[in-house]
Amino acid sequence: MEKRFYITTAIAYINSPPHIGFAYEVIGADIMARFQKMQGKEVFFLTGSDEHSFNVYKKAQEAGLTPHEYCDKMVERYKRIWQLLGIDYDRFIRTSSEKHKKVVYQLMDKLLQTDFVYRGKYSGWYCISCEGFYREKELKDGLCPIHGREPEWVEEENYFFALSRFEDFLKSHIKDHPEFIQPEERRNEVLGILNSGLQDISISRRGKGWGIPFPGTKEEIVYVWVDALINYISGLGDNFPDFWPADFHVIGKDIIRFHCIIWPALLKTLQLPLPRRIFSHGFINLKGEKISSTRGNILQPEELLKEYPADALRFYLFREIPFGQDGDFSLEGLKERYNQELANDWGNFVRRIEVMTDKYFASTIPSPSKLSPLEQELTSFSKEIWRNASSYMEEFHFSLALQETWKLIKRANQYIEESSPWNLHKTNDKERLSTVIYTALELIRKIALLLFPFIPFSCARVLEDLGVKKQLNWQEAGEWNKLPPGKKITLSPPLFAKK
Ligand SMILES: [Zn+2]
Repeated sequence: MEKRFYITTAIAYINSPPHIGFAYEVIGADIMARFQKMQGKEVFFLTGSDEHSFNVYKKAQEAGLTPHEYCDKMVERYKRIWQLLGIDYDRFIRTSSEKHKKVVYQLMDKLLQTDFVYRGKYSGWYCISCEGFYREKELKDGLCPIHGREPEWVEEENYFFALSRFEDFLKSHIKDHPEFIQPEERRNEVLGILNSGLQDISISRRGKGWGIPFPGTKEEIVYVWVDALINYISGLGDNFPDFWPADFHVIGKDIIRFHCIIWPALLKTLQLPLPRRIFSHGFINLKGEKISSTRGNILQPEELLKEYPADALRFYLFREIPFGQDGDFSLEGLKERYNQELANDWGNFVRRIEVMTDKYFASTIPSPSKLSPLEQELTSFSKEIWRNASSYMEEFHFSLALQETWKLIKRANQYIEESSPWNLHKTNDKERLSTVIYTALELIRKIALLLFPFIPFSCARVLEDLGVKKQLNWQEAGEWNKLPPGKKITLSPPLFAKK
């Protein structure tokens, strides 16, 4: 098993605060990073900001700030929201940082020395929101197919990258590495683009005073997408040799062209290994429409966090929507799952068992005696849940992993009803009561470990209540008898207050 694990998100366009659609991506990567850490891997989780876009430049001007001042402010805001959401990244890379600029400059210089770069004249359609070029036939009624806005006609002389020479290479790489682009729909989409033929792309642009100078030119800057993609290398800093290639680039499905075609072609030219897997998630819709800053139907995590704890939001998104597909966000759905599943099914269970442990055993973990068939059945059932959840987690099937875990939570609640500890207490059946409470505490421990990547704030508290050591271990979610009898637990207030 590989010991190291490198995962990235796309870097944020900071011309507006993060909306729920982008937070979704960053939370998804965070869940995977936490899961890998729990498996004992050395994880590097990178996120950051894409600062050299024309939209950022324009927004700064409107606000009467320099682009740098504007970006500093927005980056602080992003970092604060990521912290509130429990995003445990290792580095936040800014494309305006000197370190990043230096790496981009060096790599462009290296690229220039290959015969894949040439001087040419560009003319074509350019969408400022995508920062991307389009062919006439790719436009939808003359508009950008993603943003629905009118593209600009651009004509200028600049440097070109011979992307068209990579068709065969990319096709065979995708064929030889079926895991390279996930999910399958996106792989097919990329193959479709390759089959319809690639055109060379321009990689320098006439400067607008905001960007990374292109080596050997006076007035040209590095095409912002090339600049942005290189963050995956510059963001590693000195860790580059140990962590490259990336295990996962997590991206939105609207930018697969850049990540699955341009990026691998550039890496190949630079003689660097390609990322292992590129995972593309779907869009979050609000009442059936895509959420986007350009469309103006924004749902901001900042607002939602005033009403709900971060765990609620993290949970709802990944319980509700299979990562990789489009899904609908609704406030009603959030409230329902929060009350029903987090507060009732899970929070209540934890609270009940902690209260009973306090009442019957003065908050001391009891010593179990002989297991009845009920506990034996529960043991193998929970083992199976753990096994299924583990393989779902590896493949980004987060909603399925949660579905599995919920089966165990339901079963745990049922177990308490079936074995009614309150009756055992009444009849003074100490032996049986000890076994039931011990088993229930063990179930809490196992479930909290399974849920930790999703709802880290509340699970950390539960595990702390039980005295589980800080170095959380996924393997232990599949094992029994980890809690030491005789130790005290902490009785905490309910995990989730009902709305
Ligand atoms: Zn566009």
